[in-house]
Amino acid sequence: MSELRQNLATKEWYVIATERAKRPHDFTKGKKKHQVLPERVDSCPFCPGNEHMTPPATLVFEDDSGWQVRVVGNKFSVFSPEGTTERRVNGIHRSMTGVGIHEVIIERPEHNTIIPQLSDAQMELVMRAYRSRYRALIKDPRVEMIILFKNYGEGAGCSLAHPHSQIIAMPIVPTHIRYRIEEPRRYYDDFGCCVFCHMAKIEKSEGTRMVSENQHFVAFCPYACGAPYEVWIIPKRHISSFGNTNDEELGSLGKILKDVISRIYYGLSDPDYNYVIRSVPKDEGDALALHWYIKIMPRLTKQAGFELGSGMYVNVTLPEENAKFLRELKLPASGGE
Ligand SMILES: [Zn+2]
Ligand SMILES: [Zn+2]
Repeated sequence: MSELRQNLATKEWYVIATERAKRPHDFTKGKKKHQVLPERVDSCPFCPGNEHMTPPATLVFEDDSGWQVRVVGNKFSVFSPEGTTERRVNGIHRSMTGVGIHEVIIERPEHNTIIPQLSDAQMELVMRAYRSRYRALIKDPRVEMIILFKNYGEGAGCSLAHPHSQIIAMPIVPTHIRYRIEEPRRYYDDFGCCVFCHMAKIEKSEGTRMVSENQHFVAFCPYACGAPYEVWIIPKRHISSFGNTNDEELGSLGKILKDVISRIYYGLSDPDYNYVIRSVPKDEGDALALHWYIKIMPRLTKQAGFELGSGMYVNVTLPEENAKFLRELKLPASGGE
């Protein structure tokens, strides 16, 4: 019989359809492989030498060999960086000026590097760029909320192969995020503690869903989640805003993110994936009830009508088995340390 599970933090329900349970190789057989890419592509706007093809850089980390991480405005921005936030009401219709900032974090100069190949220092630099832009953009009085994410592979919505992530600073807090604030608040009212701190502690002590751990973070497959091999990475210290992550934690974050992505990459034959940093709206920067984390979602299955109709995801794998598989995977010795 299948099982319905509720996520403690979000209160969302998921169907764990164990009878349709799939093994890792069910997802990888017959899958189209990602193309082998060259180190530089003449027409790629993110490759060194083509800096004139992007909007101006807002942040550059460089060493003697040139830039290492470069952040630029998104040429195809979903928001306009100029202007003021204005709400308009016309009869029953409400609208607002589409003001916001959309930037691209170019993670490496090489066109063909992927996270499992980055050194710890290179990973840390990417995390530093995330935090630096987060801190800068959250200060903009028009900005209410920041979304930081990476799309990897076409199935995850990635249209440009050069390794990059994106940051979008928005003038509103979407309804979806309000729900994700209200439930942890209720939990705090009832129990006097942060639900994410509690969850991280329980997952660590139970161990069955743990994937990885280091000094400052735990990574686990949530008890109730909608995607096969979904992993959450939670800071052990209670931090509500990603912007308040300290230097030492950033180094740890780079290491655990690389570790988890590598497990997914090697274990599931390089699947498409998304990850998103779920931080809090600007006004909630010190909230006792809220806690930032990263959600990583390999794109191994597709959503269909049932998901659309119910808002409830069917997971054809068991989070406990996913975690065991990822945790026990032997990773090749990492290069470029
Ligand atoms: Zn490129
Ligand atoms: Zn917490």
